[in-house]
Amino acid sequence: MKKFYEDLKINLVDQYLKCPAYKLLCDNQGFNPAIDLNTEKDVEKVPFITTTVFKKSAEIFTNLLKVPVSTIDKWTVSSSTSGDPSMVGRTMSDIMQIKEFNKLSIGTLRPDTEQECVFYPDPDTMKNYKSEMVYGKRTESYIGNILDVFDFKDNTIFLIKQEGDSLVVEVEEFIKFLENNNNLDKHISIRGSALLLYNTINELKEKIPPFNLGKNVLIQTGGGGWDGKKGTISNGTAISKQEFVETVASFLGVPEENFLDSYSFTENTFFIIGHYSKEYKDYLFHIPSWGKVIIRDIKTLEPLCNPGDRGFMQMLNAYGTSAFAGASIMVDDIGEIVSIDECPDCKEKLMTIRIVGRVKGAEAKGCGATLNVRSEQ
Ligand SMILES: [Zn+2]
Repeated sequence: MKKFYEDLKINLVDQYLKCPAYKLLCDNQGFNPAIDLNTEKDVEKVPFITTTVFKKSAEIFTNLLKVPVSTIDKWTVSSSTSGDPSMVGRTMSDIMQIKEFNKLSIGTLRPDTEQECVFYPDPDTMKNYKSEMVYGKRTESYIGNILDVFDFKDNTIFLIKQEGDSLVVEVEEFIKFLENNNNLDKHISIRGSALLLYNTINELKEKIPPFNLGKNVLIQTGGGGWDGKKGTISNGTAISKQEFVETVASFLGVPEENFLDSYSFTENTFFIIGHYSKEYKDYLFHIPSWGKVIIRDIKTLEPLCNPGDRGFMQMLNAYGTSAFAGASIMVDDIGEIVSIDECPDCKEKLMTIRIVGRVKGAEAKGCGATLNVRSEQ
């Protein structure tokens, strides 16, 4: 087996031995990672924990730790519209692993950028925002974790400010940034929440003429929000990725191929980066060599392998889950296989997927049931 698979096995065996809840799940499915995980194909049989099990309301998040609560550094919590966040115990070494992944992706993320303008609060504000104590440990948003390990330059402009309990966009500061960089072809990056950037651009479009920032600008979104909801902010409707890219690209005067989106979630460690494809009118996400994604049929949960197949995403982590049972996580976001071994757009040799969104309504309820049954087996 390759290095990743060897390390994944080590991580799964460790999780089996240190997390009794995961051991129970494995034993019920007749799977022992020390014995039954020998080839890459065997990975499809690895039992997964669903993200719903990490919810505060499920009241078993402490059982999903591999270490005593007293030894974790913080609880990572998801931004939750329902007030029922996921609770994931992490050590600093788990969070620093996210930084390592970030370094590995630095080529894609434009190290030559001169200045960043960010649609998030500064890291300290984000880390402390609505933080509370649970079993003697601080809670911190997953975005807070990530902002904390991202090496922002000193001249970075953070556009989201805290006013009381709410977070607001400093629109005037953004306009100033755009005016200062107009027609200059500078190497700058605009990063952050797609929802906040999109809402701001739509507001500006009505008031001021478009800009021409040029071909060297990177627009990198992350943290979801495509369903039109993020924490306490709601648009009521989902954002079409095509409409987002076309609207923002034409108003700012930036090529569509300069748009990136990153995807991960609170219970996961490695993130995936997608570049916008004009041909697909969507972001094409590359699965890096340090992680694995299996797309599973929504009804049967069987692994899928053909281009166009859609299903739940199972993320396999070999690294950065020392404190919690995060080696094999199933999320209710829907992914679609674009190619199993080559990105059709940039020709890089790796698995490529699109992220389609969540299942809705009755179908979602059915899926929730499927996932719960599976996780309780
Ligand atoms: Zn590609």
